[in-house]
Amino acid sequence: MTATWQQQVSLKPFNTFGIDVKARYFAQAHGDAEVRAALLEAARLELPVLVIGGGSNLLLTGDINALVLHMASRGRRLLSEEGDRVVVEAEAGEPWHEFVQWSLAQGCSGLENLSLIPGTVGAAPMQNVGAYGVEIKDVFAGLTALDRETGELKDFSLEECGFGYRDSLFKRNPGRWLILRVRFALSRSLHAHLDYGPVRQRLHEQGVVEPTAQAISDAICSIRREKLPDPLELGNAGSFFKNPLVSAVLGEQLRARYPGVVAYPQADGQLKLAAGWLIEQAGWKGYRDGDAGVHRLQSLVLVNYGQASGAQLHALAQKIQADIFARFGVELEMEPNLY
Ligand code: FAD
Ligand code: NAP
Repeated sequence: MTATWQQQVSLKPFNTFGIDVKARYFAQAHGDAEVRAALLEAARLELPVLVIGGGSNLLLTGDINALVLHMASRGRRLLSEEGDRVVVEAEAGEPWHEFVQWSLAQGCSGLENLSLIPGTVGAAPMQNVGAYGVEIKDVFAGLTALDRETGELKDFSLEECGFGYRDSLFKRNPGRWLILRVRFALSRSLHAHLDYGPVRQRLHEQGVVEPTAQAISDAICSIRREKLPDPLELGNAGSFFKNPLVSAVLGEQLRARYPGVVAYPQADGQLKLAAGWLIEQAGWKGYRDGDAGVHRLQSLVLVNYGQASGAQLHALAQKIQADIFARFGVELEMEPNLY
């Protein structure tokens, strides 16, 4: 074990649920060399390695008998500019929202709808982060990852990442790829996405007639601050379940039984149901069992009122999944990564 590794470190400050479990070993990586050194040392000690960024998409259900490697690499840059297209790159440990704001300050648009998502640049491709009608795949220009099986670096193109709805090749192969830096193709002119949720309405309320990318970002930040609990005040990992995709047949059956069901048709004929609507209909909104609960305003968000363990939150999630399946015949899939 190297001198920079700490032992028996509480992960409470490193996960937004605020769950107090311990890492057997903990280290920070500020760049590629430190990543490689940590992985080599862990291999020598036959220790598993859990890579984390901001800890905003984790559910930690017990002490982690591994090296927890916290990505702390920083740096962002303009790589190229041709006509309207600007390619930017950021290191994995860059805080996502700061990177989005930096890109806007460079006069680049494309990431504004993804404002105020917690976490790091390096974790964003894991679930192809998305919000308000934009996913990173829409502006993705490539990433560099370390293959933890071979120690080789690999550049991934958009096609190679296998992005899907809150999904990617990296999420489907946990522990294989360590993402070091990510590139985005942004634009000097604005291609605004305003048709999702209350974005247009908020801009209207704010008196914005011709929105800039920064104005869209500001509007989205204000909506998110109103709707979502701040992890610094109330532990949570954002949406706890993915919105389920169901067949058109099941969708129509549900619509016949529940005319108010919130469902969005997909290009492939399936329907995307709002999981939050199903959970609210089933009466879980605001539910609390000890310190584990369902947020009182946003039923898709599970919350830790203080001392909830990851196991308690997981048990609550499983109860909700079973109930939603029994009532609606719909399977809810957890979004955070369970350890
Ligand atoms: P972590 O939680 O640290 O890690 C998540 C997973 O990625 C883990 O499996 C980890 O091992 C792996 N990982 C982390 N870094 C790397 C790396 N460099 N290389 C390889 N693997 C890595 N998500 C959305 O998609 N849209 C939203 O609008 C959104 N809103 C949110 C709002 C709130 C209040 C919260 C708390 C969460 C929200 N999320 C949202 C979820 C979360 O913020 C994102 O998924 C974010 O990208 C996670 O980043 P992180 O750095 O915190 O990852
Ligand atoms: P919302 O606006 O209340 O909408 C509820 C759900 O309906 C959303 O989950 C969204 O699906 C879907 N939806 C809304 N308008 C849509 C449209 N025009 N077309 C297709 N689907 C539509 O949602 P919210 O909870 O306040 O979140 C706002 C956005 O931020 C959403 O995109 C959401 O995914 C994202 N967000 C994500 C997390 C997370 O942890 N993953 C946390 C907070 C917010 P989608 O989720 O598929 O977009």
